[in-house]
Amino acid sequence: MPDTAAVFDLEGDAGALGALRIDLAAAFRLTARFGWHESVGNHFTASISRDGRRFLMNPRWRHFGEIRASDLQVLDADDPDVMLRSDAPDRSGWTIHGAVHRTHPHIRVLLHCHPPHATALACLKDPSLPPVDQNTARFYGCLGVDLGFGGIANDTEEGERLAVAFGDHRVLIMGNHGVSVAAPTVAEAFEDLYFLERSAQIYLLALSSGQPLSVMSDALARKTADGWLYYRAQAFEHFEHLKRQLDQLDPSYRD
Ligand SMILES: [Zn+2]
Repeated sequence: MPDTAAVFDLEGDAGALGALRIDLAAAFRLTARFGWHESVGNHFTASISRDGRRFLMNPRWRHFGEIRASDLQVLDADDPDVMLRSDAPDRSGWTIHGAVHRTHPHIRVLLHCHPPHATALACLKDPSLPPVDQNTARFYGCLGVDLGFGGIANDTEEGERLAVAFGDHRVLIMGNHGVSVAAPTVAEAFEDLYFLERSAQIYLLALSSGQPLSVMSDALARKTADGWLYYRAQAFEHFEHLKRQLDQLDPSYRD
């Protein structure tokens, strides 16, 4: 079972760091194939140091569909001069991911993007996700909501507010913006992103019927969410399958 990001100090472990780079590069390629990316924007990061403050991130304005493992930059959340580098990252990516990794050392992998259905959910006045089926109940009790959108995240204040809103949640619905997902490994984060987008699609489709929703009781939602724990390991099987598909189509993400 791959568990690359859960091994906290990766900088002295070339094999584990290389595997993490490949997994994160695969997540970019897959996100482009699923249509969840936004032009050449959006950002994924994975911590490589024990304190979580040094992390891999995609270079500025590189399309998700062509990112290679070796393209990923190493950034330091405590470096005040990151944006002065000749290869400075995208400003909004740095603002959000720098603040989250600085605030939450336990967050090893952070995927932020604008998938269409999850982002449509984020556009609702109440962007919470009620437990109306198994997929939506997967996120019962672990989904945070931020309603303080203050424009494109180019200032420290926006990043710090989002980091606080994340709290102990696995998922943050960013009102008027998009979503972020945090997990110990790339595979688990990608699986939550997959189910989040599926959940938002199902919920919005049910809403569009105009019929009253059959929202589960808290007890049933809790039981269903707990039932998902048995299936958490599916994330690794799914991700390895998707990587095998990528290998057949274009294995250059591994370079
Ligand atoms: Zn965004």
